[in-house]
Amino acid sequence: MKKRAPEGLAYFDPYEGTPVLAAYRQTLPDQRDTDLLLAWCSFCGKFHIHGGQGKTPLQHDTHRRPHCVLRDESPYARSGYFLREVGPFPKEWDSYL
Ligand SMILES: [Zn+2]
Repeated sequence: MKKRAPEGLAYFDPYEGTPVLAAYRQTLPDQRDTDLLLAWCSFCGKFHIHGGQGKTPLQHDTHRRPHCVLRDESPYARSGYFLREVGPFPKEWDSYL
């Protein structure tokens, strides 16, 4: 079921032609090597879940290729997107997962 983006979600202008999505860190238990980064996909109407590349916030944008690139009509089909970490995943957005 496609939902609307949560209120307060951050957006960025295009970055060298490739979209930049706000990424929110979801902390996993200490025994896990990495946290997760969650980015809202307006095409899928849900958060995409990516690896967080460790347990500390990323200082640089990282390029990702989401699953919906396999669908031609996805806005990310050719380019993928960059994730830009903006902060922790808000607890009040849990219902979007
Ligand atoms: Zn998607």
